[in-house]
Amino acid sequence: MPDIHLPCPSPECQRSPRTMTANLARGLFEYRVLHDPRYALRSICGTCKKITKFTREQIIILVPPDERPRPLAADLFWAYILFESDAWKGRDHRAFLGDRVLVQRLTREPGGDWYGILKSISPYAPLLKIGNYVKGRPRGRLELCLFVVEDGAARDIPKPAEIPRSSSFGMFVSPNDNDEKILGANIYCSNPSCNHIFSTMTFTKFKAAIEKEQDDEELYDEVTFLATVKLTCPRCKTVRVIDEHSFDGLYQET
Ligand SMILES: [Zn+2]
Ligand SMILES: [Zn+2]
Repeated sequence: MPDIHLPCPSPECQRSPRTMTANLARGLFEYRVLHDPRYALRSICGTCKKITKFTREQIIILVPPDERPRPLAADLFWAYILFESDAWKGRDHRAFLGDRVLVQRLTREPGGDWYGILKSISPYAPLLKIGNYVKGRPRGRLELCLFVVEDGAARDIPKPAEIPRSSSFGMFVSPNDNDEKILGANIYCSNPSCNHIFSTMTFTKFKAAIEKEQDDEELYDEVTFLATVKLTCPRCKTVRVIDEHSFDGLYQET
């Protein structure tokens, strides 16, 4: 499907103002409304110069239905399958690689251990299938998927012989002495029902990207005046606009 652009509402014009796609407009709106709750997107038509304001609803309706972010049902959540990685280990921290799978929660114990049904698959656990019963527990703010239940017995999730090089994985870091302080290092897709992790976007990579583009006036957002990077999810097409604050609560290499 071709990209849909914001239309100019002027009857004589019918051209798209600027080259902004509906997906980009939605991403910009999502980003700017965090800073200004009453934000309405202003767009200038490249042909008739008419300025149009778009509300969230007017933008969303232009995004093709299968490309709109969707909330997760209340009993669904993302659980992580992680491998410890010696390559990225540091003197004072442990590093893990992995991605996340969708789980439908069946039970949760007071201590946080949960039991559920797997709803998506992962190259990090190639033997797991949709419909498998899985168990896990929280570590810090992450839910870890740790066991598969077969014939009533829970066993460790079998690992692939080699850690796969997928296009969507994250790095996770915890201090040597405190597992509970584990943090992700990558930006996620902002669509709640998409599992994509921008593997190439860590705080260090973000800093390098804005350093490289610093002469480009498009780098600075017209509402927040912060340097931003626009990411398009390769899975669901959702655009996420990030600035340095998007890394608050994530691991930031020093
Ligand atoms: Zn126009
Ligand atoms: Zn996505």
